[in-house]
Amino acid sequence: RRVVLDPFKISYTCDKQRQAVAELVDEFSITPSALVTIKDHFIHELKKGLAKDGETLAMVPVFVSGRLDGSESGSFLTLDIGGTFLRVVFVVLTNGQVTKQQKKYSIDEDLKVGETKVLFVDEHAIKVPAGSEIDLGFTFSFPVLQTTINSGTLIAWTKGFSCPGGVGKDPAALLQDALHKQNMHVRVVSLLNDTVGTLLAHAYQYKNTVIGLGLGTGSNAAYIETVDRITKRKGSMEFATGIKEMVINMEFGAFDKEKIILPLTMFDNKVDRKSLNQGNQIFEKMIAGMYLGEITRNILVNLIDRRLLLDGRSTKEICKVWAFDTSYMSTIEADETPDLDDTRFVLESYLGFASSDPMATLTSTSTSVATSSSSSFTDRQIIKIIVGLVGKRAARLSAMAVAGILEHTQGVGWTEDDGADIGVDGSLFRFYPGFEDDMKEAIEDIFTFEKSCTIDISKIQMRPRLDGSSVGAALCALLAGKTAAVPSS
Ligand code: BGC
Repeated sequence: RRVVLDPFKISYTCDKQRQAVAELVDEFSITPSALVTIKDHFIHELKKGLAKDGETLAMVPVFVSGRLDGSESGSFLTLDIGGTFLRVVFVVLTNGQVTKQQKKYSIDEDLKVGETKVLFVDEHAIKVPAGSEIDLGFTFSFPVLQTTINSGTLIAWTKGFSCPGGVGKDPAALLQDALHKQNMHVRVVSLLNDTVGTLLAHAYQYKNTVIGLGLGTGSNAAYIETVDRITKRKGSMEFATGIKEMVINMEFGAFDKEKIILPLTMFDNKVDRKSLNQGNQIFEKMIAGMYLGEITRNILVNLIDRRLLLDGRSTKEICKVWAFDTSYMSTIEADETPDLDDTRFVLESYLGFASSDPMATLTSTSTSVATSSSSSFTDRQIIKIIVGLVGKRAARLSAMAVAGILEHTQGVGWTEDDGADIGVDGSLFRFYPGFEDDMKEAIEDIFTFEKSCTIDISKIQMRPRLDGSSVGAALCALLAGKTAAVPSS
């Protein structure tokens, strides 16, 4: 649960401090009307991406078509490389029932930036069940220009990965090679984005699923599009097969590369400048788990430098880029103790703002005077307000994208009679206090403010979906067996 403080009701130590917080509130709040304007531009970009390759939104057709009916069955191996973990799961699907055996390994920081081949060779994790060759669904959560259901080219690395020799290569072929070299009888039959997996896994349970959303370390969505509207592929071989719908991997994290519509602040620009993919994934850097802590850290350091927070004192920890983990924000958002003790805990335990006098920590209260390196109650209140601003802005902008997809697909991919189901994966949606509620409020803001489009939000169901890279990947492998993998022209 998010516990909100009113920035206009706390007592500040000076006018300058009050003014600085008021400016931040102004910069980070997005009105319903501004959200609608951004959403309209998002739809405009979405359409451009459907019409032409190489646009800001890649809008990649992923060769997954046809809706699921829950009766699909089979056994598959799935492998997922996407962010923090590498997961290998053996999945058995039997008419809507799922059994899984899973292994999870964390991906070391040096592997994320080391040779691409090494990242793929490190598949020691796979244990192939004895017997004949087994089909594998490979979830690869980066922008890939898909050429068939089991091949594609990596467009760029995101989320702090930058393995040399990866961009321009086919991740499925790299994996297949690595598996062959280790004499494993595994066939990579499908290559999919995590959001595609989320969409499929959700559709296995809810037949009115239209969107698979990823709101975690990175951000993205996949949705079901009418083939007629994917004009950039009209007339090409794969569209001559009579299919009516196809899943699109939007790669929406790239939205507004041109920086013309998003309300970017100097703190966002700083994050971008320090990232490995500077100038790219501008939208993702405002809404994804990997970046929210760093935006917050930039604001705090700015206020410290202006001597408007923490007595102008900084610590080694708070000066370190990426040192403010987004999970600290969750703790601070949920802090409902009268003295903001949980916030103090974050400051002391992770950010080096420990009290110089151990006794002071034990006996301090909201009225106690701050010791030379501890925080005051006002400091903690301001920090909580700032965290709230960054988190809420992320939720509202994420909701903007959902509203855009819903508006674009209304009456085509879904109707108000049936409603629309949305499966959401990712730590922000699951763990960040109030994220889901803020998203819902923003969607409501958009469709209440919007005069030209009426969507009854009670028909929209957003639910968590955690098994995209296992069940979703298995379903994708299953669909691969049904779909002739036709090369694009
Ligand atoms: C990637 C997407 C992915 C998303 C969520 C982004 O950084 O570009 O392909 O779906 O993260 O994992």
